[in-house]
Amino acid sequence: MTLIFARSIEGRRNGAQLVPPGEPQADDIPENLRRTEALPLPALSELQVVRHYTKLSQQNFSIDTHFYPLGSCTMKYNPRGCHQLAMLPQLIGRHPLAPVATHGQGVLASLFHLQEILQQLTGMVGCSLTPMAGAQGEFAGIAMIRAYHQARGDAARCEILVPDAAHGTNPATAVMCGYKVREIPSNSDGDVDLDALAAALGPQTAGIMLTNPSTLGVFERRIETIATMVHQAGGLLYYDGANLNAIVGRVKPGAMGFDVVHLNMHKTFSTPHGGGGPGAGPVVVGARLLPFLPLPRVVADQGQFRWLSEAEAPQSIGRLSANMGNIGVLLRAYIYALMLGRQGMTRVAAYATLNANYLQTQLRQAGFELAFANRRATHEFIITLRSEAKSYGISTMDFAKRLLDYGFHAPTTYFPLLVAECLLIEPTESEDKATLDLFVAAMCAIREEAMLQPALLQQAPHTLPVRRLDDVRAAREPDLAA
Ligand SMILES: *Cc1c(COP(=O)(O)O)cnc(C)c1O
Repeated sequence: MTLIFARSIEGRRNGAQLVPPGEPQADDIPENLRRTEALPLPALSELQVVRHYTKLSQQNFSIDTHFYPLGSCTMKYNPRGCHQLAMLPQLIGRHPLAPVATHGQGVLASLFHLQEILQQLTGMVGCSLTPMAGAQGEFAGIAMIRAYHQARGDAARCEILVPDAAHGTNPATAVMCGYKVREIPSNSDGDVDLDALAAALGPQTAGIMLTNPSTLGVFERRIETIATMVHQAGGLLYYDGANLNAIVGRVKPGAMGFDVVHLNMHKTFSTPHGGGGPGAGPVVVGARLLPFLPLPRVVADQGQFRWLSEAEAPQSIGRLSANMGNIGVLLRAYIYALMLGRQGMTRVAAYATLNANYLQTQLRQAGFELAFANRRATHEFIITLRSEAKSYGISTMDFAKRLLDYGFHAPTTYFPLLVAECLLIEPTESEDKATLDLFVAAMCAIREEAMLQPALLQQAPHTLPVRRLDDVRAAREPDLAA
């Protein structure tokens, strides 16, 4: 693909209208501030520009164009209507510093109700919407746990327990908050090893970070026992709720015994995940951590909505973002929740788990090996290609790249680290059965190719604008003009 500048034709007039009529024109700018040379823009017609960018957009995989079963990411359909309503100028046109009493009751009411909805969904009593990513929500959660122990004068608690199945952001968060990380192994069924947990708990334990369902795609069945053990040792429980799709509207982390939860709006609640776009990672807490919530928070006062003041929250861990966080993402989540309602939420979880279990069963029947053969899938599940790798001399990465030629974005590869040659597959609730069946057929066809012509996989992809990339170099030294 050539750069748009290379398509420019000398002397042709630029097709774009740079300053719309009615806006200040060049003449309105003081003489000494005006450009003396023309902007070096490519000279192309409007149609050429449209074609260029449309073609560029089609060189990538996206949920709009492809099945995208990337595990631990929830690449589901994000309804356009949520976006359209969240972008109403009455909502996002407001200046963040405008007085809330006269300009902003609508926005604050929306944020207040979103706080309430997230509390209800998780079984918690307080919420702050301010963190702007999952990892920042984790940071807020562990900083609150630290503040809780400090407020009680309990200075000995210097360790956070993290199961080996955890998302990489969990240990990173604990270290950022000044804690030592102690890893807890999983057993062969994917559950936390309770003997190892018992041995690790002590007066040095500040808390544990858990995901349930875990990143191994299974639901931790003894979560209440774990909660009791950790609480009895004086620690608190942090729930990584980045992926809520399997349990939303059905199981509350508060009922499992957790003290704090973060939620990724940019996975479960109608904002696309990936590409480094804006996100939101609100935190919700139980009674013990309520005083420590980050600001700002919206409160309702005799029918009026306002920000909680700093004087009213002296133990707050402080502010994490400018103004009120990523407002566009939060408003989208609010509208998504209103659109689905209570019943819709439970249907999300029902169909997310139905699709995952259907796909898991179909792949097993087709002869693929499940990492946890005795377990039901949650919103995702893991298969391992270790026997294919051994028999045919191919790798999971070769398999994943060949899937692209078949028109499927690959599932997550080589994560979690505990399972060799693994694919973590998350179909989400928004796919139909026909798509899932096509995916199974492609998996079988690729396995056949692996047996007969392994080089076809080893050199894949064959049909995309670029062939196999050096992943590390592509990230560290990107050549965007090639
Ligand atoms: C995505 C994810 C995170 C991190 O979320 P970011 O918004 O990318 O920081 C944390 N934990 C789990 C389990 C995740 O899937």
